[in-house]
Amino acid sequence: MELLKQRILEAGSVVSDQVVKLDAILNHQVDPALIKEMGREFARRFVESSPTKVLTVESSGIPLSFAVASELGVPFIFARRKKSVTMGEDTYCERVPSFTKGIVTDIMVSSQYITANDRILIIDDIIANGDAARGLIRIVERSGAELVGVGIAVEKAFQAGGRAIREQGIRTESLVTITSLDQGNIVFAE
Ligand code: 5GP
Repeated sequence: MELLKQRILEAGSVVSDQVVKLDAILNHQVDPALIKEMGREFARRFVESSPTKVLTVESSGIPLSFAVASELGVPFIFARRKKSVTMGEDTYCERVPSFTKGIVTDIMVSSQYITANDRILIIDDIIANGDAARGLIRIVERSGAELVGVGIAVEKAFQAGGRAIREQGIRTESLVTITSLDQGNIVFAE
């Protein structure tokens, strides 16, 4: 997606050869016009697989999932990282390492919002090692719902996450693919 590449080049910065900072558009401040376009693009790619719900994990996946779900006309669910008093006991909980925080966290979804009749589209902002996406995939598997695919805004192809999920036979679409962050330069796949 050319627009997203452009915005990453304008507003993004390289933190290390492993980490890109996108706080100006995705991860802290959010650009609604850009997010809406990204939502349209994911909806175009996945509409034919008829998702009934979009699933993400808080917090950076939320604006994008809202945009995708809004385009598809379906609800979206964000997995919580902290148990709320309003959440019942009937919860799918998965333990995932956090790439940016360097700790292990739980992600939780109340079982009432994903049923075996659902067709789930997972959406997230950035994929590195794929732990967050794999946690969401395990929740979908446990619910008995069908997983229609995984949509990732920014895939860092020099880390194994996207590749490993495709190797599981899961349709995985990225809007842009970064092949390298070496020496402070953001390099995209063609
Ligand atoms: P993974 O679980 O695939 O290793 O990491 C995915 C999560 O970590 C994403 O939800 C994303 O928010 C965060 N993350 C991974 N790589 C980066 C990065 O280079 N920059 C930022 N800002 N977040 C990242």
